[in-house]
Amino acid sequence: MARSPASAQAPRGTSAGEFDDVHFHLTNYVQEGIEPTDFLKIMGTRVGRSALFGIPLQQTWSYRNSGDFAPTYYLQTDAPLYYYSFTDAYIAMAYRALAPEQRARFDPMITGFNPADMYATEHIRRVLKTFPGVFEGIGEFTIHKEFVSSKVAGEVASLTNPALDRILDLAGDAGLVVLFHNDMDMPFAKAGAEPVFLTQMKALLRRHTKTTIIWAHMGLGRIVHPAQPSASAPPGERNPNFAMIVEGILLDSTLRHVSFDISWDEVAKYLLATPDITRRSADLINRYPDRFLFGSDVVAPKDSATYFAVFDAYRPLWALLTPDASAKVRRGNYERLFDAARQRVRAWERAQGWTAAP
Ligand SMILES: [Zn+2]
Repeated sequence: MARSPASAQAPRGTSAGEFDDVHFHLTNYVQEGIEPTDFLKIMGTRVGRSALFGIPLQQTWSYRNSGDFAPTYYLQTDAPLYYYSFTDAYIAMAYRALAPEQRARFDPMITGFNPADMYATEHIRRVLKTFPGVFEGIGEFTIHKEFVSSKVAGEVASLTNPALDRILDLAGDAGLVVLFHNDMDMPFAKAGAEPVFLTQMKALLRRHTKTTIIWAHMGLGRIVHPAQPSASAPPGERNPNFAMIVEGILLDSTLRHVSFDISWDEVAKYLLATPDITRRSADLINRYPDRFLFGSDVVAPKDSATYFAVFDAYRPLWALLTPDASAKVRRGNYERLFDAARQRVRAWERAQGWTAAP
């Protein structure tokens, strides 16, 4: 019998509502969006808490490229993207303008840094020092992302860049939750090939076992589909399918600090592609209920229908999860990770001598 998600008994101490959202963009690629108070109206009583961040990249409007047409998304022009650090001050000021009980429903994240810059850690420190008492994590930030990475002005980000290790070390020291977008594979990858960024990604994750890391979208994307085994050989270690790769990470004792978010309607399309795939997705989550978090990956929604579409699309999955797994993926894991971050980051700020004005 299909269970409605809300019927599952909520673990003690979790927020009210059907879910928390670990992946929400208040502003878009041209830094326009909605007010947190507008989002609170949309959240209503269905959403308990939400991560709060913008998009760290600004889409250039190049007159020579698109004339009077003002692009608002990276697919709408060839003009480059560049890092937009003011987004962190914008998010901090919007958060501070809220009443205390409204703030309690948000977990702000720092995104406005260039992950290929060895000085990125100084930006993160400067933001925490300038706005103590506000931020609990970093991200969503991106290394490999289909059309985006090559459009970013400057040195292209990479998983082997020591600047990224500095960022993840700082996050580990300060207790910041990390939300990390990195495509596991190249666009339109061929069956039977190991996902092109998987080995580098696992090596990076193993270098930062003290850092709480959420791999956004399970490493999938619009044109980055789940790895398919080659038809010419039986699925197995040398010819893995996506579920095997993910289970390998979940079973690996050196990767216990890594969780996955299932955000984005593009990801839902993969996990719900057929009833059999939906069942296998649910089985995997039921076996590792502490390692998956729901997120919408919605950007500056104008209305509730737009915002709730991803969560509601997952109804077939929610119906197949155990009550325990369902409650953890929708709320429990979010609150375990962010409640710990709220405490650790504040303590770390105090240890630096940075405290918010009363
Ligand atoms: Zn996102």
